[in-house]
Amino acid sequence: MHSLDVIIIGGGPSGMSAALVAGRGLLKTVVVNAERPRNIVTTASHGFLSRDGVHPRELLAISKEQLKKYETVRYIAGLVARVAKAGEGFEVELKDGTQLRTKRLVVATGFTDVLSLLSLPGIEEVYGKSVYPCVFCDGFEHRGERLALFSKSGEDFYVPMVRHWSKDVALFTNGTAVDSERKRLLEGRGVLVVEEAVAKLVSIGGKLQAVELTSGDRVERDAGFISDDYSKPSTPFAEQLGVGKTQNGWGMEVLDVLPSGASTVDGLYVVGDARSGFGGLMASAAQGAACMEGIVHEIAAQRWAEGANA
Ligand SMILES: Cc1cc2nc3c(=O)[nH]c(=O)nc-3n(C[C@H](O)[C@H](O)[C@H](O)COP(=O)(O)OP(=O)(O)OC[C@H]3O[C@@H](n4cnc5c(N)ncnc54)[C@H](O)[C@@H]3O)c2cc1C
Repeated sequence: MHSLDVIIIGGGPSGMSAALVAGRGLLKTVVVNAERPRNIVTTASHGFLSRDGVHPRELLAISKEQLKKYETVRYIAGLVARVAKAGEGFEVELKDGTQLRTKRLVVATGFTDVLSLLSLPGIEEVYGKSVYPCVFCDGFEHRGERLALFSKSGEDFYVPMVRHWSKDVALFTNGTAVDSERKRLLEGRGVLVVEEAVAKLVSIGGKLQAVELTSGDRVERDAGFISDDYSKPSTPFAEQLGVGKTQNGWGMEVLDVLPSGASTVDGLYVVGDARSGFGGLMASAAQGAACMEGIVHEIAAQRWAEGANA
């Protein structure tokens, strides 16, 4: 007999939305959250309806505060160290040794950006402050500025996107040659193509000033975007429990999970970036909410079938 209806690992927008719906659905729930959402390096979360511009910590603080009234939900600030199948459900062990059991497990642990994979010295100082992964998240704040786009591919779909927010775009391929025809097209659209390797990003207080090349030349820039593959799932839990991999629409390798969050492993769900690679705050929250609605439906139907609520 499992004492909990559901455990949610991770409390970013996906996990906390799932927790909110679980509380409203009267489910006995535990949320374990290491409290390090992916965008913690930024000062402002953008595009989240009614919370546009708040600090990522504030978004978490508001979510925690609003969860308090749901007495069936317990929030634990902590780290899950291990998960395993146990009977018909799952066993979850926290770093402090606490062990929990549940029939249903939601993995909402997001993705982690590994900046060392980028070969862009100086990136740590500017990441999330003036150089970002997502134009929807931060393009507006830098519209019309002198923008850098770091991408090893001259074919990158992000070129028209960044160009949409500014007429002044320099594409840095960091040592990768761009096909001459493509280069002509890019330059014809006003995009400066810089194939020379990057020596470092020059910044002051997190604000990008210039991109210095190995020749010592500098290209002055105010802000930038990165379009490269440099992130990975924050935890291996879903894979360890048997969920397979597939490619998403952008060619990224992601977990093979249904749009509802349900996986091929009975009782195991994956939501948010952990499922989609880079969902954004609103989409991740929506995934968490929709997934938990499905779980509440399933539990209610099961209790009905068993006559438990007769
Ligand atoms: C620099 C930057 C800026 C961004 N800006 C925006 C923006 O302005 N607008 C926008 O829509 N999107 C933005 N994003 C994207 C956004 O951060 C993610 O899409 C969103 O956070 C995904 O939500 P999530 O709940 O899936 O994961 P996360 O928010 O990453 O939350 C995952 C949570 O799981 C916890 N966790 C991980 N492992 C464990 C474990 N073992 N045990 C317990 N807890 C664990 C983490 O600590 C974290 O709290 C930005 C991303 C970056 C990198």
